[in-house]
Amino acid sequence: MSDDTIFDKILRREVPSEAVYEDDDVYAFRDIEPQAPTHVLVIPKRKMESFADLADAKDAEVAGLMQGVSRVARELGLEDRGYRVVFNTGPDALQSVAYLHAHILGGRKLSWPPG
Ligand code: 5GP
Repeated sequence: MSDDTIFDKILRREVPSEAVYEDDDVYAFRDIEPQAPTHVLVIPKRKMESFADLADAKDAEVAGLMQGVSRVARELGLEDRGYRVVFNTGPDALQSVAYLHAHILGGRKLSWPPG
């Protein structure tokens, strides 16, 4: 088992967060340092360290996470204008929390390519 991260503590409600969605598979909460008018993080309830771990995950876990992300974006009203889903994975991508998380970014025109 890997080290406890801030997201483990958020999931256990030991650290407060602003929840926007929860189901059996995922928990979603607002990023503490938003990079867009809407910036939400979605984490699987069963811990994985990064997106790379999905390669070995059960189909149901992959489906639960991906459907959760899509449902959060819908709940946030982002479907019409669009949004971006980002999984920073490992050091080159500057992943700073070793708990798999999707960023959902929306509410403004986003530039491309990312830095
Ligand atoms: P990463 O860089 O790993 O892809 O993204 C980690 C994200 O977690 C960052 O956008 C950062 O702002 C967010 N974050 C870090 N600590 C906390 C926290 O305690 N609460 C919340 N809500 N977000 C956090």
